[in-house]
Amino acid sequence: MESKTLETLCIHGGYKPESGEPFSLPIAQSTTYQYETAQELAELFDLKAAGHLYSRISNPTVAAFETKIAALDGGVAAVAVSSGQSALMVTVLNLCQAGDSIVASRSLYGGSLNLLQVTFQRLGIEVILVDPKASEEELMAAMKDNTKMLFAETISNPLLHIVDFSLWNRVAESRGVPFVVDNSLGTPVLCKPLELGAHIVVYSASKYIDGHRNCIGGVIVDGGNFPWDNGKFPQLSEPDESYHGTTFCSDYAPMGFAIRARTVLLRDLGCIMNPMNAFLLHTSLETLHLRMAKHSENGAAVAKLLADHPKVSWVSYPELMDSSEKSYAEKYFPHGCGGVVTFGIQGGKESAEKFIGNLKLISLVTHVAANTSMAIHPASTTHRQLSDEQLESSGIGADLIRLSIGIESTGDILEDITQALAQV
Ligand SMILES: *Cc1c(COP(=O)(O)O)cnc(C)c1O
Repeated sequence: MESKTLETLCIHGGYKPESGEPFSLPIAQSTTYQYETAQELAELFDLKAAGHLYSRISNPTVAAFETKIAALDGGVAAVAVSSGQSALMVTVLNLCQAGDSIVASRSLYGGSLNLLQVTFQRLGIEVILVDPKASEEELMAAMKDNTKMLFAETISNPLLHIVDFSLWNRVAESRGVPFVVDNSLGTPVLCKPLELGAHIVVYSASKYIDGHRNCIGGVIVDGGNFPWDNGKFPQLSEPDESYHGTTFCSDYAPMGFAIRARTVLLRDLGCIMNPMNAFLLHTSLETLHLRMAKHSENGAAVAKLLADHPKVSWVSYPELMDSSEKSYAEKYFPHGCGGVVTFGIQGGKESAEKFIGNLKLISLVTHVAANTSMAIHPASTTHRQLSDEQLESSGIGADLIRLSIGIESTGDILEDITQALAQV
């Protein structure tokens, strides 16, 4: 039975055993694949036949994970890579070269900001950051003739901004570039970017997709919904001599973007996911729908507790924010907003350290979006190299605490937060 229901796809998408095959996904721990004739191999090298050649390019266990994620997102293909950072890197390099530019929301994960602003700038790719609440005029003004992608996080880490998808889609399409989103904190359970105007979705699979804190991984989903032959992307729309004149966007329509990411960029850069992690992530996806519902229930309960607490100066959680986030949360995240909640504590840094030190159930770790509840004070940890001014301008004040609420009992989590606040 073919089902498109999300819950059923979480369990049955991906690996489909034939009669007599292992019921659970086998781990193909093999670098290479055996063929009988030179002719078969030649056709694989020429991309004329489908099949596995070498595990730097593709692997059956990794392919099962890719198939499941693509199905969950409603994309035409997915490419699994070694980390969330690699997912963004491969996407950028599939679209841009030196002399091009990227327009991105300023409200991004710190690692993505470093990759874009430092590493890609050094390679000659310009990055123009805009406010997540930029108006149509401001967005249009930021887009240049050499702009090759528009980028935002569906729900940003750690500030939890949500952009106006329809506006960003409209601006991207009117300038002939794809709208790329990072849906790591949304997951396909809470947010369906391809149905909301995105063309490419990237994930850090190390977050909710894994959930169990076991794997670093990433994945790119190709929506198959962008016209690459508009003249801006010759690497996709003109013959590629490194593949005997293949034209990716027409020969592999509608998945030319994904096929080029794999056959050119994984071939050259070598950042594919390994089979063991693909096995673990394919298994973790079986419970994603249940986990995200509980994360959202707990996240909302914590946000509500904090909003009413006298020692808390502000709370950021999309459903509670009285700005545009609330309406975007309702529109784009109909099943909840997950477990990440940020808040400001009265008394700044000193109180923040005291609060975190007194938590008993919630752990102090540099991670986000997993089954366990976790807390971090960015100003004294992940962002401690920034000056006070830099902290302010990136929206990370000395009073900010990021909570990533897990799937433990709601009552136990609320009790832990209440007792830790009482000691501040
Ligand atoms: C963690 C994270 C990344 C980077 O992912 P890694 O798997 O750690 O490389 C990218 N985007 C977001 C939103 C993240 O939270």
